[in-house]
Amino acid sequence: MNKSLGATGLILNEPLLWERGKKGRCGFSMPERDVDSFPLDGDILGEGPDFPDLSEVEVIRHYTRLSQWNFGVDTGMYPLGSCTMKYNPKVNERHAALPGFASAHPLLPPVLSQGILELMFELEKYLAEITGMDAVTLQPAAGAHGELTGMLLIYAYHKKMGSLRSKIIVPDTAHGTNPASAALCGFRPVPVKSNEKGVLSPEAIREVMDEETAGIMITNPNTLGLFEENIREIAEIVHAKGGIVYGDGANMNAVMGIVDMGKIGFDIMHLNLHKTFSTPHGGGGPGSGPVCVKSHIEPFLPAPRVIEKKGKFFLSDEFPESIGKVHTFYGNFGVMVKAYSYIRTMGPSLKRASQLAVLNANYIKETLKGTYDLPYDRPCMHECVFSDRLQEPHKVTTLDIAKRLMDYGFHPPTIYFPLVVHGAIMIEPTETESKEDIDRFVEALKAIAKEAAENRELLLKAPHNCRVTRLDETTAARKPCLTG
Ligand SMILES: *Cc1c(COP(=O)(O)O)cnc(C)c1O
Repeated sequence: MNKSLGATGLILNEPLLWERGKKGRCGFSMPERDVDSFPLDGDILGEGPDFPDLSEVEVIRHYTRLSQWNFGVDTGMYPLGSCTMKYNPKVNERHAALPGFASAHPLLPPVLSQGILELMFELEKYLAEITGMDAVTLQPAAGAHGELTGMLLIYAYHKKMGSLRSKIIVPDTAHGTNPASAALCGFRPVPVKSNEKGVLSPEAIREVMDEETAGIMITNPNTLGLFEENIREIAEIVHAKGGIVYGDGANMNAVMGIVDMGKIGFDIMHLNLHKTFSTPHGGGGPGSGPVCVKSHIEPFLPAPRVIEKKGKFFLSDEFPESIGKVHTFYGNFGVMVKAYSYIRTMGPSLKRASQLAVLNANYIKETLKGTYDLPYDRPCMHECVFSDRLQEPHKVTTLDIAKRLMDYGFHPPTIYFPLVVHGAIMIEPTETESKEDIDRFVEALKAIAKEAAENRELLLKAPHNCRVTRLDETTAARKPCLTG
């Protein structure tokens, strides 16, 4: 790639502003002063910081170029499995930015925040309907935070029932946050293996479920992208021993309007608004992980809660069994507005979004099968998991394949997760990709498999076309260079 300045649209060697500045250059010109100047009292300003002197256009170009180094769903397909990196319609951002929402102070009295409270009240209702649960809290700020809230709810429930239980069952396909959340709340996570079909078998749960077990955390669809087909039977086993079924609903993008999570046996579940409901995931911004519960868990939900009385909305702390607040004020409101706007604009088409997400993943699974090893060869939900087993004879690994994809203009998929698949390559296309883009992605992965067989060296040093090529990740982690 030509790295000389100005020779290509994408300039990858952008100097620091300090290296670019020239003394005396100015970003704006003010009219000549027509009043006398007066010295300020004493030297209150002191020496200013040593900012570089730049013209306006230099600053604009600098930041615009830096912005072009970003890869995001707005620039291309981002097939990061378990993350639902789908395109989020801009109209939802626009609604969240309306001054009445964006500038509202969280200490406004209810009389001045009726619209905001109503939006939260209605969003809770929508999320309850979409999941098939009875009540919702919008406070948690992320999926993992929802899990922790869920664990606190389980603890409060058992405490009320007079049985203090110490263990939580967590399948081996679980997201790492699941055992961490259970442990953070003082429970001991008990691992359980999924079967040869990639799902949990009732027998495995029957073996570990006892009266010291507070419940199970189960992701459905699971992180292999497979629907836990024995979920009802498993829920019955857990309930029969007095346990609670916690559903990790981060993968809701596969089943909106299709699966009633309440009916399949979940007592508590979280959603990731920043995956499924129109907030970009992973951009470093705020998230939201609402927790939805059945009525027997509702008394313990975090307070304050939004309530309605005679068409007016209030925040109420009158929930004596509540576990209390889990977030400052009421959670990340801007994310709620985007979810509300998304749900209202989509309506019943949410189901179609899930159907297309599942179709796209199955299309990728079928077209790449044979080129890449598919350890669980069965219909998948919104994502599919391959491995590098077929590339092993050429001594090419998942990491090499992922790095090479960048040269083809794609963000790599999730790699080496879930842990149950050795060298996992986990692809989630989402519903927002066109068939043409998915075909280009499939072609790229096929070309890479060919390169693996014929030109291994090319892959080992990839990426070649990025700002930095293959990094020494160990040294980068052990001896980070933070000055650029
Ligand atoms: C993303 C994810 C989580 C964690 O959500 P965060 O918002 O990142 O904390 C938990 N479980 C699953 C299955 C996920 O995909």
